Amino acid sequence: MNEDLDRKWDEAARTGQAIPIGDLVVCDVCNDDMTASPAIGGFIFGTYAYCPKCAASHLTKIREYGEEHMIRARAQSGETFADFVRRYRGPDSTIRIIKGNPILPEMKP
Ligand SMILES: [Zn+2]
Repeated sequence: MNEDLDRKWDEAARTGQAIPIGDLVVCDVCNDDMTASPAIGGFIFGTYAYCPKCAASHLTKIREYGEEHMIRARAQSGETFADFVRRYRGPDSTIRIIKGNPILPEMKP
């Protein structure tokens, strides 16, 4: 995990504001910080970014369950996972946490 990204998640939860994440890239499966990694490959499955290691280890199960159509995008040949994710999500990406789902009752501690 990336401590800078942890702080941004905390800020997003605390403020409810959209927090820019810059060039940070973390695998959504193993949480490895891939921002400066030279690792090549990976894909987007649903809304999750799979690093090359997780893509390789999960692809068999994805195919077994007939869910390969849920792979929305793949890194281009020779493209690092980090560059691929940044290209996929585009510039000025942010994280935002919206609290207070009116459908669910509030939980009291
Ligand atoms: Zn991973």
